[in-house]
Amino acid sequence: MDKPISGMMIYYYIVCKRKLWYFYNQIQMESDNENVKIGKVLDETAYGREEKHINIDDVISIDYIKNRGVLHEVKKSRKIEEAGIMQIKYYLYYLKQRGVEGITGKVDYPLLKQSVDIELTAEDAKYIETVLIDLKELVNKPLPPLIEKKSICKSCAYFELCYI
Ligand code: SF4
Repeated sequence: MDKPISGMMIYYYIVCKRKLWYFYNQIQMESDNENVKIGKVLDETAYGREEKHINIDDVISIDYIKNRGVLHEVKKSRKIEEAGIMQIKYYLYYLKQRGVEGITGKVDYPLLKQSVDIELTAEDAKYIETVLIDLKELVNKPLPPLIEKKSICKSCAYFELCYI
């Protein structure tokens, strides 16, 4: 049976489809990676007074909710900004499917002291539906997609798996 599609999977779909395949198929190498450590520290220190990691249906994990109806996703840099935006749009999409309307999102970059406001448009919803179809097909293939050399590869937890 197919696993539920999490926000992190949507994020990886945009960042790197090979990374998504590894992640979906439970090949995980994240714990020793320096970027993951930075992410964990950020997670423990940024926005400390908010309620954090709101889990819905074990499908999405919202970093925190502030001012009633604004979902926040915390990222350390804007390098792969599109992926963070799509992740939170997916949360808005998923909640809309469950009948939750009138909410918006924000991607926060605490290290840069910046944030980006996010809304789900009809075009976004259509795009997410096509992503979900493509994503499910991709992760169920017996082998991962070929390596695409990217600038993020050097800081990716799967670097050794891809290049050595
Ligand atoms: S090292 Fe590069 S190609 Fe390999 S999973 Fe990471 S981002 Fe993708």
